[in-house]
Amino acid sequence: MPSKSIFSRRNFIAAAGASAGVASMLGASARANSFPTFGKVVEEQPFARIEEVGPGIWGVVSTPLKPDGSFNPAAVATLCNGGIIAGEDKVVAIDGSFRPEGAAWLAAQALRLTGKPVTDVIVTHFHADHTGGLAGYQNGAAGPEIIATATTNQLVYDRYAGAKQTPEGAQFARPAIRPVMPTRIITDEASILTMDLGGRTIRLHPLKGHTPSDLAIVVDDAPVIFAGDLVWAGLFHNYVDAIPSHLTTSVEHLLADPKRTIVTGHGAIANAGELSNYLDLLRLVEEKARGSYEAGKTPAEGAKDFIVPASLGTWQLFNPRYYETAFEAWRRELAGETS
Ligand SMILES: [Zn+2]
Repeated sequence: MPSKSIFSRRNFIAAAGASAGVASMLGASARANSFPTFGKVVEEQPFARIEEVGPGIWGVVSTPLKPDGSFNPAAVATLCNGGIIAGEDKVVAIDGSFRPEGAAWLAAQALRLTGKPVTDVIVTHFHADHTGGLAGYQNGAAGPEIIATATTNQLVYDRYAGAKQTPEGAQFARPAIRPVMPTRIITDEASILTMDLGGRTIRLHPLKGHTPSDLAIVVDDAPVIFAGDLVWAGLFHNYVDAIPSHLTTSVEHLLADPKRTIVTGHGAIANAGELSNYLDLLRLVEEKARGSYEAGKTPAEGAKDFIVPASLGTWQLFNPRYYETAFEAWRRELAGETS
């Protein structure tokens, strides 16, 4: 259900100390929704907590909303979820937070929990709330390696690294980040990359749908998937760069085994079986957006009538325009403007 914003845009910018882009992303808060805890909490800060989701595997859950539903200004440290996967030789961190202090906190926690520094960071996609803090992992010449797909690398560069910033369109176009570029570029093609962490392997699945290039990370010896922003829980998906038909296909793939633990990109960690409402919601958006398009309505007109039925649960909006953003993504795709 859409809900009233209790922060003015101006207050949000002041409170968050964030750019207009990110303030806009977080521009609406809603009813109370403390994300339910899934695993044992091993660390908790005002902006995020870390939950154990398997042996040597932890999920980070950012907490952008206070229990009363208002925006939590501390949350800009991380903004996105992420995680830690430990092997005997390597320790992988998932995603880069919005601010360097968020990534630095995650790196320190990885060292505390595993006894080893982060050796590799996997970037699930280019968005600023997942890449803006990558500098916080840097440990001089020691690394770690920052791994991303070729498309993600290009999009970080295009959107955030300089002259190619677009003046309008994506709400992420001008956040105040100073990106650290990936150091290891992997292919976007269908091939799955296997990484040996020492006594454990993980697989990097190149997918798309939330953006033109999304990575999901599958742990081979435990039923855990880090889904990046392909899967959200309790928060309505941000379609700003989405290719909606691919999003549905990717999510079907990730949620196929109901027993798998899914570390989402935003919101709670959950079993795949508990996230079927998310897939139902994506399909409802498709049905309504297609109807709107075929009736000749604009995305704004179509979104105005969009209601999430109570049967699908509560899906809070980071931004009051996110329904329209979803309808616009479908319009782009139905009009043949996306590949
Ligand atoms: Zn994203």
